[in-house]
Amino acid sequence: MGARVRAPPLGRCRRVALGRAPGREEAAGYFWGVLPAATVAATAGAAPLVAVVGGGPAGLLAAQRLAEAGCRVQVFEQKATLGRKFLVAGHGGFNLTHSEALGPFATRYGAQAPFFAPVLAHFSPQELRRWAADLGIATFVGSSGRVFPEGQHKPADLLRAWLRRLVELGVETYPRHRWLGWAGAAGLRLLNEKTQQEFTVAPAATVLALGGASWPQTGSDGRWVPLLAELGAASMPFAPANCGAEVAWSAFFQEKVGRAPLKNVALSCNGHTVRGEILLTDYGLEGTPVYALTPQVRAALAAGRPAWLHLNLKPDLPLSELQQRLARRKPGASLASFLAESLKLKSPVPTLLRELTGPTPPDLAAALTALPVPVAGLRPLAEAISSAGGLGFAAVDAHLMLRQRPGTFVAGEMLDWEAPTGGYLLQGCFSTGAWAAAGVLAWLNSGEQVN
Ligand SMILES: Cc1cc2nc3c(=O)[nH]c(=O)nc-3n(C[C@H](O)[C@H](O)[C@H](O)COP(=O)(O)OP(=O)(O)OC[C@H]3O[C@@H](n4cnc5c(N)ncnc54)[C@H](O)[C@@H]3O)c2cc1C
Repeated sequence: MGARVRAPPLGRCRRVALGRAPGREEAAGYFWGVLPAATVAATAGAAPLVAVVGGGPAGLLAAQRLAEAGCRVQVFEQKATLGRKFLVAGHGGFNLTHSEALGPFATRYGAQAPFFAPVLAHFSPQELRRWAADLGIATFVGSSGRVFPEGQHKPADLLRAWLRRLVELGVETYPRHRWLGWAGAAGLRLLNEKTQQEFTVAPAATVLALGGASWPQTGSDGRWVPLLAELGAASMPFAPANCGAEVAWSAFFQEKVGRAPLKNVALSCNGHTVRGEILLTDYGLEGTPVYALTPQVRAALAAGRPAWLHLNLKPDLPLSELQQRLARRKPGASLASFLAESLKLKSPVPTLLRELTGPTPPDLAAALTALPVPVAGLRPLAEAISSAGGLGFAAVDAHLMLRQRPGTFVAGEMLDWEAPTGGYLLQGCFSTGAWAAAGVLAWLNSGEQVN
């Protein structure tokens, strides 16, 4: 175990007011701090310095909670602006969280549900909505139970208000600053990408919130894995989550169907069924039900088994009623017109049936309720909404502190959990950010490892 950093009790912390410091510059409408010198002093005044590495939602929430508690907080972010992945969260609808009760909410985190239950209670979906409202962004619950910002606010509106609040709280932000590794028992090595100057900071505590490995252009590139491995903190390999599935459609199908939605269907994989809308594309399938089933598809593919999705095109029609309607089909009637008239199943359904079952489905009822779709693979990690894998929970204690490096905490998508779309990803990041911040405060107050 490394040497402990003794920090003053938080009662003695004072807020560090952030004026427009020398060397600060205005970029993209925000004030960004730029380090004037090669070395940052670890302690300026009595407030303990906490370094937050990673300027995504998990890191920024941790920074806010720590600054509100009176810590001096410095946020280091390798990209030129903060919250880049948060900004793309508007693609396909910006869900901040979900309105589901905490019990079922926690189950969305699969194997990590027991860890998430208290973490979600600590910074709950209601708390997240209050936090957004406090920044001037009211939210509403949509018909799906997902929570959206009112007034069609985009992530950029929320991020702008949030960064303003962080400035008011005295949080110092250092974009284009990449964390390179460790410096002694508590220090961090950083690179100012603009000046190419390398320097070290020696904070009293650190929060790493480095993200997963999807959409690497936003900064979450997973390059931190070897740095954690140096400590013996093992990560699970990254894999695409919440992504499309690849299907080897025929050239005829690709040309005829192109991109086409199938509304109100049910998709199943290995006993898991998800309702919603899917999109047929020239490379396979997209859509919320496909994304939600990526853990099952990934598991089948990893085990070397063929991965099958089963599509129910009439999930609301009882099987007996479906069979009665099919029995009324006149001999010689074309399948396409029969499906359109008696079941309201129009293009591209006949082409899809033909593609997957041949010109005359041997069992039409089965084809309409459990159409087998062979999945050849998942879409690449770089285009997935989120990633599975990341730092294993064995590497952290219950407060998200690294077992091998007391005083260093982790939060957000860099940890080995996954959850479906619908607000569960951001809620997981916010809640773990708040949890890690609480762990830091407990650590600073006790001056010894919390466990
Ligand atoms: C297209 C898309 C749409 C999405 N929509 C939604 C949605 O509607 N609802 C929802 O709940 N979730 C959504 N998500 C997921 C959500 O955006 C992420 O789960 C969330 O941003 C992860 O937060 P994080 O803070 O853990 O990591 P990130 O947001 O990835 O932030 C990590 C930060 O760490 C920085 N970093 C990494 N390494 C270093 C280093 N060495 N030095 C310095 N900085 C470093 C990165 O540059 C990055 O800015 C969406 C994601 C995508 C891609």
